[in-house]
Amino acid sequence: MRLLEWQGREIFERSGIPVPPGELVRTPEGARGAAERLGCPVVLKAQVPIGGRGKAGGIKKAARPEEAEDIARRLLGAELGGVKVNSLLVVRAVDILSEHYLGITVDRSRRSGVFIYSPSGGMDIEEVAKTRPDAVAREPVPPLEGLSLFRLRRLFSIAPTHVRKELMNVAQKLFQVFLSYEASLVEINPLAETPEGLLALDAKLIIDDDHRPGDQFAGLREAAEDPLEAEAKAAGLSYVGLAGEVGIIGNGAGLVMATLDLVSQAGGRPANFLDIGGGARAERVKRAVEIVTRAPGVRVLFVNVFGGITRCDEVARGIAEATEGLPLPVVVRLTGTNERQGREILAQAGLVPVETMEEGAVRAVALAKGEK
Ligand code: GDP
Ligand code: MN
Repeated sequence: MRLLEWQGREIFERSGIPVPPGELVRTPEGARGAAERLGCPVVLKAQVPIGGRGKAGGIKKAARPEEAEDIARRLLGAELGGVKVNSLLVVRAVDILSEHYLGITVDRSRRSGVFIYSPSGGMDIEEVAKTRPDAVAREPVPPLEGLSLFRLRRLFSIAPTHVRKELMNVAQKLFQVFLSYEASLVEINPLAETPEGLLALDAKLIIDDDHRPGDQFAGLREAAEDPLEAEAKAAGLSYVGLAGEVGIIGNGAGLVMATLDLVSQAGGRPANFLDIGGGARAERVKRAVEIVTRAPGVRVLFVNVFGGITRCDEVARGIAEATEGLPLPVVVRLTGTNERQGREILAQAGLVPVETMEEGAVRAVALAKGEK
């Protein structure tokens, strides 16, 4: 689960990592009020769980409260990278002297956490690592050893000397966040050098989906999760929302991934990933259809099931029940165990399955585009 910037920022604040003053707003008037309270200029930042917002036009500076209101009017409700912008973080603009990168992630091959630091922050760290490997330093933190200061000193040996002490301080606090929130990634990019000292101008946190939720998340968790994703999880289905028009249901993660690929190859965009798992009964299929057809942007449903321990008649029953009266076109590919019974049930519901998944993908994409 990836947190939004404002949530990460709140965690930073609680943990003593310095951030510029700011407010979360959901309306243009709210943005204006925040700009008045904070003092201009301010920076307005679209709260969407994607990177590169600066380049995509999701980060704008306003010199006056009226301008903040205008910018907010344009940003709120607009789409950024396929995600609707529902809220903005308004922060007081600060003078940036230099931009640094500081992150902690998990190095699976070493089985330890690893710090990553670069004095060339603000941009894509993968890009810096590729073009100027010397400008990126890494330092593992062996779990049994814990965080030792000599490792941080080594990490920051490529930092300008005048910010090293402050970097050490921020790094120790960031490590506490990494541990106590069970993150797989914590990242500050940019960690800006300003006349007021180092400030975290961005906050990215990815929480391990298998973490043991505790009090530390009070007030944050619910807001972070896609409501459909949460509903699917509660129903035992693995669902991931995407930005396209073709709703997808399949059994087995591999088959669902292949279905997503075929839809893309046919020129369409998947609206989601949904795996009903093995041996799903009609009730489970029905829940899956209900969830996918409620996802924003879905224009067609494509069900791709390969019957093994999953029985085609059960799947067909679920589809037939869930799609009765549904305004969306439905494309079904169903083969394997009890296929004949499954086809009969579909036929009674007025649905004719396609023969192959390639054919299904092409048909679903055409329907999504409004073709027959
Ligand atoms: P990202 O593009 O999604 O990673 O968004 P960031 O929050 O990292 O912002 C991108 C860039 O906008 C930063 O590298 C900064 O140069 C600039 N920026 C972000 N926040 C502020 C701010 O508070 N003040 C100023 N002056 N610039 C900012
Ligand atoms: Mn950033």
